[in-house]
Parts: sequence; structure tokens; C-alpha cells
Amino acid sequence: MKAEIIAVGTELLLGQIVNTNAQYLSQGLAALGIDVYFQTVVGDNAGRIRQAIETARGRADLLLFTGGLGPTQDDLTKDVLADYLGRKLIVHEPSLKKIEERLAGKLMLIESNRRQALMIEGSEPLPNETGLAVGNALTADGTHYVLLPGPPGEMKPMFDGPATAWLLRQLGESRPLYSMTLRFAGIGESALEDLLIDLIKRQTDPTIAPYAKEGEVAIRLSTKAASEAEAAARLGETAAAIERLAGRYLYAREDVPLEQTVVNLLRASGKTAAAAESCTGGLLAELLTSVPGSSEAFAGGFVVYTNAMKRNLLGVPADLLEGPDAPGAVSAQTAEAMAARTLERAGSDYAIAITGVAGPAPSEGKPPGLVYVAVAERGGRTEVHELKLSGGRAGIRLRAAKHALYRLWE
Ligand code: ATP
Ligand code: MG
Repeated sequence: MKAEIIAVGTELLLGQIVNTNAQYLSQGLAALGIDVYFQTVVGDNAGRIRQAIETARGRADLLLFTGGLGPTQDDLTKDVLADYLGRKLIVHEPSLKKIEERLAGKLMLIESNRRQALMIEGSEPLPNETGLAVGNALTADGTHYVLLPGPPGEMKPMFDGPATAWLLRQLGESRPLYSMTLRFAGIGESALEDLLIDLIKRQTDPTIAPYAKEGEVAIRLSTKAASEAEAAARLGETAAAIERLAGRYLYAREDVPLEQTVVNLLRASGKTAAAAESCTGGLLAELLTSVPGSSEAFAGGFVVYTNAMKRNLLGVPADLLEGPDAPGAVSAQTAEAMAARTLERAGSDYAIAITGVAGPAPSEGKPPGLVYVAVAERGGRTEVHELKLSGGRAGIRLRAAKHALYRLWE
């Protein structure tokens, strides 16, 4: 929203008083995120006030007036604006009552003082707790008008109170909502919330809303702003604060799935990956191949569900898989062997292996959710990670595959 402040008063033009209202209002509008593009000063003259309105309407969305709401004939702001908008002035009864009470016993003053209770038809009265002239706020043909009295002791509390509340309502209605999605891997929703809890509690704009999505965690940041640039600045600042606390897990500042980020990174570095999957049954390969252009990044995968397939297809040593002292198919050693053999057989730069218990029943006496993920790198070492995932069979399988992608991304 672009604003113009119009200070009305011949004393200002004569240099008898300093336009401190404009300074106060400019600061207040800036704090509301409203840009002030012009400050105008005009004397107590109907024709020139009208000219000021016409000029301001062409270049601002909000015209904020101070001065000229008083009882005397040179207080013209309401009359001129009502006339300009083709609206009538009507009596604001509560203000009139207040004026009558205040002036009880000096009845001859009532007629001119009545003027202070007038408001433009269809406007919202802005109560004046420290004086008599009621303020006005209205929107006509998409332009907002706010009228405040001149005396700073009246103008300031009215601006800070009812006028600001009214402006915020207009901003809330007219400003579009902008949002940004941050995507995280390798961390659960509640653990992420724990990391960010102080920030989330402290902050209301942009709002920070974590949610679980497709086996991953995302945060949506939302803010209402007058422009895209303003929104981008505010969202970027919050995103940076989140990154300082949880940057390890933040893989994208846009709403893209992890597999896409991984494929893009592999393509950018000219590297390839291959997979060996037991409990995920090809899900990792499915995720990677769902990304367009993945053939440059993903060589292929082995689905080795039974021990026989792990042995025969990949060459995982039998003594790892079976026997009284064998660690078993669901073990760090088997995951490591699966990754190492895949690297050899696929000739890729990386190999990812997943073996675990998807449930619902235990396997090898191991509980559902126990999963080992191994990542082997050509010429490097093989890392193995033990996961204890919760949830049902589908959830465990999906999160195991996503975690494998996270380890590759990391
Ligand atoms: P009233 O006539 O009741 O006093 P008003 O709303 O008609 O109030 P003006 O007549 O324009 O306002 O100004 C009244 C007084 O308020 C001025 O004499 C001055 O002291 C102060 N004032 C008005 N405008 C400004 C301004 N822009 N900055 C600082 N002070 C102002
Ligand atoms: Mg006056």
C-alpha cells in the first residue's frame, strides 16, 4: 500500500508551526509496512484541498489527513472530501452527545461544535478520547481515506488506536498471502519442532507451520504482504533463522521432493548411484526413477528380498545371512555387504543398500522398524546407519527409502 500524508493548515504554510504530525505518521505507517511516497501540506482553502486530494488519488492508495476537523469555518477537510466523493455529512450521534455533555452550560457554542460530530456517510468513525472531533476512515473506489485532527495530543492516540486497527483490517483484506515451503530430510516432525520451538513460539509473522509430507517433513512459512519483494524479504529472513537452527536437515527452499534434489545433485556432479533393496522392495528405485532425467543419475537397482537372492544375485556372503552366529539379513554387516557388492556390479559412483523389518511381524527376532541403510562411495568408505522407525508397514518402507536418499544427499 502506497500512502500520502496530507497535512491541512495555513499555520503550517506560514511557518508558525512545524509539521510534526507528518513525521509521526510517516514513522507509524512505516512500522505497519505501508510505504509513504509523498507528504503534502495545504492551507485551509477548499479549492486547494480539493486539488491536493485529486493529485494524491492519482499516486496513492491511502490518503491520510491531519488537521481541519475542528469546529470553525476554516476547518474544511471533511466538507471538501465529502463533496469530492459526492457523499453527505451525517451526524455521529455518540460524538454529538459527548460534545453536548462537554459544553453543557455554554449552549451558544453548540451549533459550530456540532460540526465536530459530523462524519462522511458510509465512513467508519474513529473515536477521539482526548478531544471532540471524531475521525473518519473509509474506502471509496479502491482508495482509502483516513481523517485525523490536527492537535498532536488527539492525533497520536487516534492514529495508534482506532486508525491503525482500521488500516490493519484493510491490509489484511487486500494484501495477498505469500508462502514459502522449506523441506527437510533425516529428521522427524517432532524433533524438528523441538529444534525450532523458541522461534515458532516467538513468531507470528511469517507464521511457521511444520507438517509431515510423503515420508518427509516440511515447513510452510506464510505472510501477508503488499508486494512480492516485501514478502520475499520477510520469508527469507525467517528461512535464514530456521536454517541457522536446522540447516543440517534443510535440503530445499521450495516444495520439491528429496528424490528430485538428489537426482539434480547427482546430475550436476556427473555422478551415478545404484541401489540394493530388501524391505523397500524397489521403492527407492521407484522414487528416483519418478524424477524426469533420472537416467543420467540412477544406474538401476537390485531387489533382493530373500536371503537366496542376496546371496545369488549380489554375492552377499552366506555366513552373514544364516547360521547360529550370523548377524542376519537385517544387520549392519549385511547392509554394508549389499552396498559394496552393488557398487562393484553396477559400476556406479555410489551404492545405497536398505535392509530392515517393515512389519507388522518381527523378523529374525528383530522388531518392525529396525532398518539399516548403507551408502558406499567409489574409492571411499561405506557408511552404515541404523534406524528405528515407527508406524505401519507402508510408513516404515517409505521413510526407510527417504532416509536412504537423505544419506546420499548428506
Ligand atoms: P482544532 O481546530 O480543534 O484545533 P483541527 O483538527 O481543526 O483541530 P487544525 O485547526 O488544523 O486542526 O490545527 C489545530 C492545532 O493543531 C494547530 O494549531 C497546531 O497546534 C496543531 N497542528 C495541526 N496540524 C499540525 C501538524 N501537521 N503538525 C503539528 N501540529 C499540528
Ligand atoms: Mg481547526
